[in-house]
Amino acid sequence: MKKLRLDRYLSNAGIGSRKEVKLLIKGGRVTVNGVTIRDPSFQINLENDTVCIDGNPVILKKNHYFMFNKPSGYVTAKEDRYLPTVMEFFSSLPFYKKLFPVGRLDIDTEGLLIVTDDGTLAHRISHPKWEVEKEYYAVVKGNIRNTDYSRYEKEGIKLKDYKAKPFKIKLISASDEKSEITITVKEGKYHIVKRIMEKLGHPVLYLKRIRIGPIKLDEKLPTGEFREFTEEEIRQLK
Ligand code: URA
Repeated sequence: MKKLRLDRYLSNAGIGSRKEVKLLIKGGRVTVNGVTIRDPSFQINLENDTVCIDGNPVILKKNHYFMFNKPSGYVTAKEDRYLPTVMEFFSSLPFYKKLFPVGRLDIDTEGLLIVTDDGTLAHRISHPKWEVEKEYYAVVKGNIRNTDYSRYEKEGIKLKDYKAKPFKIKLISASDEKSEITITVKEGKYHIVKRIMEKLGHPVLYLKRIRIGPIKLDEKLPTGEFREFTEEEIRQLK
């Protein structure tokens, strides 16, 4: 059975910040199933409990989660003074002002971007502590067929001013001019894949994100289009 702290429940419902809702609870204005609860850590059963403030039921707002297949040429930001942003694709939705992209892809990077209005989820996916895997398909310059990159899976690599965490490279195909790979990293640092591949002597020619944690880019989703996450995908993300 899904449970949530009372203070978190109320702030998720948009009633106020955690601090504000704690004041409401301690002030005796909140009831659960008709009983006044003054403990902010009280556990709410999401399926059965009815929470009221001053006698009015609180409806837990539903968040929105979208899978977007980002095209090249758009900035991953809510707004930009000069360049088009990924949010333009969402502008027909009535609640679009509340949405934001999770993490960042470079302007020329394509592929999987999560767009949501759920700040808690966004924080969890982006926070370095959780080390959520991000997998990219990349075309890089040069032939890497005979190179063994397995040591980087343990060691990571030292970049100019930063030590990149361990990452994994898999070869898909190679010719003298270029190689197709997948590269999986566990961090969201600025230009991380491009910087790693540059350091290895194989600059990135094309980059597309194909997975974030358990969520794979839907192959049927055309570039520049989005769809809502399925309930199963939302469960996997949380
Ligand atoms: N690494 C990069 O270099 N660019 C991206 O857009 C994402 C990861």
